[in-house]
Amino acid sequence: MREIIEKIKDNTSIESIIGETVALKRSGSNLKGCCPLHHERTPSFYVRTSAQTFHCYGCGKNGDVIQFLIERDGIPFNEALLFLAKKANIELPTRKITDEDVKKSHHTSNLKAATKVFQARLLANQSHAITYWQSRGLLEETISDFGCGFADGSEIDLLMSIETKRSIGIIHSDGKTVFAHRFTIPILDTTGNVIAWGARAIGTAIPKYLNSPTTDIYEKSKVLFNFAFARRYIRSKDEVIITEGYSDVMICWQCGIRYVVATCGTSLTEKHISELKRLSADSTRLFRVVLAFNNDDSGKKATIRAIPMLLSVGFAVKVAVPAQKDILDVFAKDGNEGVQQLFSQLKDGVNVLWMK
Ligand SMILES: [Zn+2]
Repeated sequence: MREIIEKIKDNTSIESIIGETVALKRSGSNLKGCCPLHHERTPSFYVRTSAQTFHCYGCGKNGDVIQFLIERDGIPFNEALLFLAKKANIELPTRKITDEDVKKSHHTSNLKAATKVFQARLLANQSHAITYWQSRGLLEETISDFGCGFADGSEIDLLMSIETKRSIGIIHSDGKTVFAHRFTIPILDTTGNVIAWGARAIGTAIPKYLNSPTTDIYEKSKVLFNFAFARRYIRSKDEVIITEGYSDVMICWQCGIRYVVATCGTSLTEKHISELKRLSADSTRLFRVVLAFNNDDSGKKATIRAIPMLLSVGFAVKVAVPAQKDILDVFAKDGNEGVQQLFSQLKDGVNVLWMK
């Protein structure tokens, strides 16, 4: 294993990995920039390219490229290694592959294949599917960043066995399709693999939003939408915005607010909180959660319910209340500026609890 770790590091340039997060400038024989691991205005973060290491004189963190990813993304060693191995096209020696591994890998590739089909169908059905989202202010680029697609109801025809279609959650056990005529949004696990979809009705179908049914790898009370993408931003800010829906996340992302996730069709659970807790585990700063649920009865209830749960694990809690029904409506009325303003005028969670 030692050897393979060295090989991966030899085939990785620490400056390009760090350069994805922060702009580095030459300073003598080193590169210098603002530390991506703590907040600073004057650069005290150095990358020594000859040794392929980093050192921050501000927060004292230092190490190699693997350590950098562990710090930046809050992931375990193995995950950081896997990430770099993939990037460098190096195969990691695996432990003995079990039947469970094979099943999981088939499952993952089937979900990926179906996601691709949905994406192609979206492009082929621009008229109603894309137009709807664009009318709500989402750019085509955002729609594609999130891997959105369109299920036209012909999933039955996908080249997969009935059993497979059932196991990945695109047909019900009675053989009926799950997502007919819906806009699909991939839901990813923490490593970025598709595990399910959220789906919005394009017409007036009820319910408006639908999630994949529970499968071997998807349980909605465990998953925070956008967690895989947002993780590094949450980690560097020690702050997370939790919204109610997919489109809230997408519009925030489009406005440049990246530390944002959504619960999607469920209230905040202990499982969600422990996922955030893991991310904040070794932080010296207070971890802040901003609740930005819908401005309606159920959103208010969900907020009141979530505040004590978050306070009890030691998080600071703030509340953002949209002037309109949700963040998408704020954007529709006041654009990017309105969304930025929403998150600059936060209420204190403790006060919200008192005033209820
Ligand atoms: Zn630092």
